[in-house]
Amino acid sequence: MSPFAPEILKVPATPPESLPNFMTAAVLYGREDVRIEQVPVPRAAPGELIVEVAAALTCGTDLKVFRRGYHAKMIQPPALFGHELAGTVVEVGEGVANFALGDRVVPINSAPCGHCYFCQRAQENLCENLLFNNGAYAEFLRIPAEIVARNTLRVPAHVSLEHAALTEPLACALHGFEDSNPHPGDTVAVIGGGPLGLMMMHIAALHGCRVIAVVKHDAQAAVAKSLGAEHIVQTTQVEDAVQAVRALTPDQRGVDIAIEAVAIPETWEQAVAMVRNGGTVNFFGGPETGTKVQLDTNRLHYGDLTLKATFHHTPAICRRAFELIASGKFQAQHFITAQSPLSELNSAFAQLLDRSANNRIKTAILPEVHR
Ligand SMILES: [Zn+2]
Ligand SMILES: [Zn+2]
Repeated sequence: MSPFAPEILKVPATPPESLPNFMTAAVLYGREDVRIEQVPVPRAAPGELIVEVAAALTCGTDLKVFRRGYHAKMIQPPALFGHELAGTVVEVGEGVANFALGDRVVPINSAPCGHCYFCQRAQENLCENLLFNNGAYAEFLRIPAEIVARNTLRVPAHVSLEHAALTEPLACALHGFEDSNPHPGDTVAVIGGGPLGLMMMHIAALHGCRVIAVVKHDAQAAVAKSLGAEHIVQTTQVEDAVQAVRALTPDQRGVDIAIEAVAIPETWEQAVAMVRNGGTVNFFGGPETGTKVQLDTNRLHYGDLTLKATFHHTPAICRRAFELIASGKFQAQHFITAQSPLSELNSAFAQLLDRSANNRIKTAILPEVHR
């Protein structure tokens, strides 16, 4: 039995007959230390839901957390782990009117407070009280009242729960794309072939943009092509990625929009160097604290560049992302490239971290519920 028993997971005196007392869950203890343990099944307080997890998706952020052992905003160990999921409502807290037992839902990983300075200005992604919910790598997950009220979506029967679980990362990508001032016909370079970079490429292609994918690995190049990228610049095969991208634009003018999705200073600088005068750069990847970049101020000013950075998502964007998945236009099946039982989460992470060795994008972690 796990010594880990956070406040929210206290076992109730009389659990409902339908739910077991204990469940299998992944607990993050620190750097590369995630253990699969038995923990108490959470119970729904007023306003909350308990969701039986159908699938939880691995995410670049989770891998980052796995390597670093923490995430300043999202998660501090020891803690239940995982945040992209969809499932079925198995317990409804007092006072919840909009969801019922058996509903198929996507509970998003966060909810804004709705009343702070940022929320009042429709910048809920910057909410001062952003509430994060972790614990998707488990059989059951408690959904806090704020997320039930503001950021839980019902999944129609024609959408698979695995695909619906892509809503949160897609919302991040969609937010970044919409923030980049895109127009159909624009040439968009996306640097980075991780899950979010690939999503960004796919969204841009669906929007009618010409996409140049700047990626490292063969597998990423292949996926980028199938998601609609017109040109691939593979960084291992060119001397200068910036020149290679510019060469694909008329008069080597540069791209209309450059989106950085790697999160290192070198690629932030490349994004600025490959955009055309009057174009927009989106620093979408979140580098480590303390990271600095060097930018040519003359170019920024006289080139009339717009520099943007986009973090996280808002409830409205989550809804649009979900609609894109439900519409069938977004090719969700390309993004979930493997399935793994919860008990093998560590080896699933190890495989995802070894990007050159396989073509995995996201792995669906499937709990084995014994009921
Ligand atoms: Zn994520
Ligand atoms: Zn707020």
